[in-house]
Amino acid sequence: MADTTDVLIIGAGHNGLVCAFYLAAAGLSVRVVERRGVVGGAAVTEEFHPGFRNSVAAYTVSLLNPKVIADLDLPRHGLRIVDRKVQNFLPLNDREYLATGAGRTKAEVAKFSNRDAERLDAYNDRLGVLADLVRDILLKTPPNAENTGWVAGLREVLGNAGLGKRLADLDMTARRDLLALFGQSCGDMLDGWFESEPIKAVLGFDGIVGNYASPYSPGTAYVLLHHCFGETNGRPGVWGHAIGGMGAITQAMASACREKGVQITTGDGVREVLVEEGKAVGAVTEKGEQYRARAVISNLNPKLLFTRLIDQTVLPADFRERIAHYRCGSGTFRMNVALSELPKFTCLPEPGDHLTAGIIIGPSLSYFDRAYQDARNYGWSKKPIVEMLIPSTLDDTLAPEGRHVASLFCQHVAPELPDGESWDDHRDEVADLMIETVDRAAPGFKASVLGRMALTPLDLERKFGLIGGDIMHGALALDQVFSARPVLGHADYRAPVKGLYMCGSGTHPGGGVTGAPGHNAALEILSDFKWRRV
Ligand SMILES: Cc1cc2nc3c(=O)[nH]c(=O)nc-3n(C[C@H](O)[C@H](O)[C@H](O)COP(=O)(O)OP(=O)(O)OC[C@H]3O[C@@H](n4cnc5c(N)ncnc54)[C@H](O)[C@@H]3O)c2cc1C
Repeated sequence: MADTTDVLIIGAGHNGLVCAFYLAAAGLSVRVVERRGVVGGAAVTEEFHPGFRNSVAAYTVSLLNPKVIADLDLPRHGLRIVDRKVQNFLPLNDREYLATGAGRTKAEVAKFSNRDAERLDAYNDRLGVLADLVRDILLKTPPNAENTGWVAGLREVLGNAGLGKRLADLDMTARRDLLALFGQSCGDMLDGWFESEPIKAVLGFDGIVGNYASPYSPGTAYVLLHHCFGETNGRPGVWGHAIGGMGAITQAMASACREKGVQITTGDGVREVLVEEGKAVGAVTEKGEQYRARAVISNLNPKLLFTRLIDQTVLPADFRERIAHYRCGSGTFRMNVALSELPKFTCLPEPGDHLTAGIIIGPSLSYFDRAYQDARNYGWSKKPIVEMLIPSTLDDTLAPEGRHVASLFCQHVAPELPDGESWDDHRDEVADLMIETVDRAAPGFKASVLGRMALTPLDLERKFGLIGGDIMHGALALDQVFSARPVLGHADYRAPVKGLYMCGSGTHPGGGVTGAPGHNAALEILSDFKWRRV
C-alpha cells in the first residue's frame, strides 16, 4: 500500500528542509524523499580524503536568512557560525596584496589609490540602499503577472502594494542606481566608481561567482548585489564559516524538521511524479516505493523536474518550451584538498588572519574577462580565477591536528566542453591547473596536497543534480529572476499542474544557502491548504 501524507517533498536540500519545517510546524504531515544518502544537497559536509572533511560544494555562509535561522532555532540544533578574521585576501604579485575586512579595507585600498579609499564609504552606502531593498523582497512571493481572474489579481495588487511603496520611497539617486544595476555589467559599474584594479577585482568577484559571464556582461551588476544581501551574526555583508562545515547547517535543519515530525527518507530518489486527472498525487522512487500526498513539492532544479521526472504531456506546450530554454551552467569547477601544511604566499608568507579569508587568485577585472573568454573558446581558462578558503583555520573539526583542508572554487570552465569533448577526459588535467595556479602565488602548495576531490560541472550534475553544474539552479540573469524565476507566470512557487509546487533555488530569490525559496513556497502552500485549493 502506498504511504500517504499531506505533503511529499522531493529533495532534502536546505530549501526542501526549510519548506518541510514550516509545513510541519503548521500541522501538516510531511515526508521528504532524498536521492543521496545524506541530507543537505549542495550544503553538505563530507569526508573526501581519509580523516579530512569539508563542505564539498557550498563553502561559506552569509546569505542564510536570519528569520529562517530564528524560526528553525538552528543554534539550539547545534549551528554555530563564526566570522572570518579577514574577509578577502588578494595576492597580487610577489610583493603586493589587498586584504579587506572590518576596520582595514580603507587603509588597504589606499595602498593603491587614495581616491578609491575615499570613495569606498559612498559606494557602500549607495549599494547598501539597494541591498536593503533586496532584503525586503527576499521573503515575499514576487508578482506573478498572470491573468487568472479578479480575485487572484486583487490578491496580487494588495500583496505587492508594499513593494510599490518601497520603490516609490527611494530617492532619485537610489532609483538611478537601481536602474543602472539591473542593466549594467559589474565591470562598467565598478569602473565608474574606482580607478585601481585590486578593489574592483575583490568587489567584481561577486558579480561572476557562480555566474558564467565576463564581468563586462550586462546583468553581472545584479549578481554582485545578490551576494551582498547577507549577514553573519547580525553584521550585514559579512561572510562567515559554519563550524563543522555547511553540512552543520543542514543537519541542524533536519533536526528541527524531525522535531516537528517530518519523516525524512534518504538513499532513494524519485523516478517519476505521479499525475492523475491533471493533479499531482505523489511520486514513485527508483526503488519502486510509492508515496502519495495531497501536494507534491520539488526542491529540484526546475529543468531537472520538468524535463526528466514528469510526463511531458501533462505540461502546457509553452511552459515546456520555456523550461527547455531555461539557462543552467555556472562555469564552476570545485575542488577540495587535504593539506599537510598551510600555504605560504610569497607576498605574505607568515601564517596569519589572511589565511581565514576568501583568498582570491585573480587580480583584475580584465583577468576575469580573459578567464571567461578562454573558457568559451577552449573549455577552461588557462589562467583561471580561484577562490580558496581554508576553513580549518577557523574550525578544528575538519582535519587532523596540524593538517588543513581547503576549498578551491574555480572559474571559468565551460559547463559543456566544445567539440563534444567530455569532462571525464579532462578532470585531472584541469585539477592540476587549478593547483598550479595556487602554487604560483604560494610556492610549495602543490607539494602540500595530500589528497584531492575534483568536481567538474558534469560531476556537480551527477552528484547533486545540478543541471549543467549550475550552483544556483539556473543563471541569475535578468530574464530568470524575480517574477521570471523560473518562468513568468509561475513565480508563485506553483507549477502548471495542480498540487505541484517548487521550493528550490530555481525559484525566487534564487541560489545560495538562503532558505528563502523554501520559506516562501511553504507560505503559498499553506495558503492553498487553508483555502482548499489543493
Ligand atoms: C560548488 C558550489 C559552491 C557553492 N558555494 C556557495 C557558498 O559558498 N555559499 C552559498 O550561500 N551558496 C553556495 N552555493 C549555492 C548553494 O549551495 C545552492 O544554491 C543551494 O545549496 C541550493 O539549495 P537547494 O535546497 O535549493 O537545492 P539543492 O541543494 O540542490 O538540493 C536539491 C536536493 O534534491 C536532491 N535530488 C535531486 N534529484 C532528486 C530526485 N530525483 N529524488 C530525490 N531527491 C533528489 C539532491 O540530491 C539535493 O539534495 C554553492 C553551490 C555549489 C554547487
